[in-house]
Amino acid sequence: MASVFSRIIRGELPAAKVYEDDLTLAFLDINPASPGHTLVICKEEYPGLIELPADLIAAVAQTTQRVAKAIQTALHPDGFNIVQNNGAAAGQVVFHYHVHIIPRWEGDRAISYWRPGTSDPETLQVTAAQINAHIDKETP
Ligand code: AMP
Repeated sequence: MASVFSRIIRGELPAAKVYEDDLTLAFLDINPASPGHTLVICKEEYPGLIELPADLIAAVAQTTQRVAKAIQTALHPDGFNIVQNNGAAAGQVVFHYHVHIIPRWEGDRAISYWRPGTSDPETLQVTAAQINAHIDKETP
């Protein structure tokens, strides 16, 4: 079944569109964490970052920067968060790759993030090596 975002692309559902090009679409989140909270999506439907081809990652990243610059000029936030959830455990609700641009103002408490944990140097090195062993150096 087509995602809610694919239905927006097809014009079956309304959206407050901010920007569109051949590969990407940006529109306002229907439940904004802050004014101007924008979603940037890849028009082709892929569930998340793992599945998305590299050229489409680049296209979404480019649109994200383009829209963030416009938000900066239009709304004058003090900063913004870029959020991209992958998997239900990470809070993903719509399984169609998208990036959140969340404008932030000093003291707005719009979103809270992770609680910083503790580490020891040895564990960090072991985990880094574990991940590094699986880096695919062939795929761009
Ligand atoms: P995520 O948790 O990263 O999957 O985020 C999905 C986001 O999509 C949420 O912030 C929703 O508010 C937003 N959303 C869901 N349906 C719509 C819609 N029809 N128009 C705009 N935003 C939507």
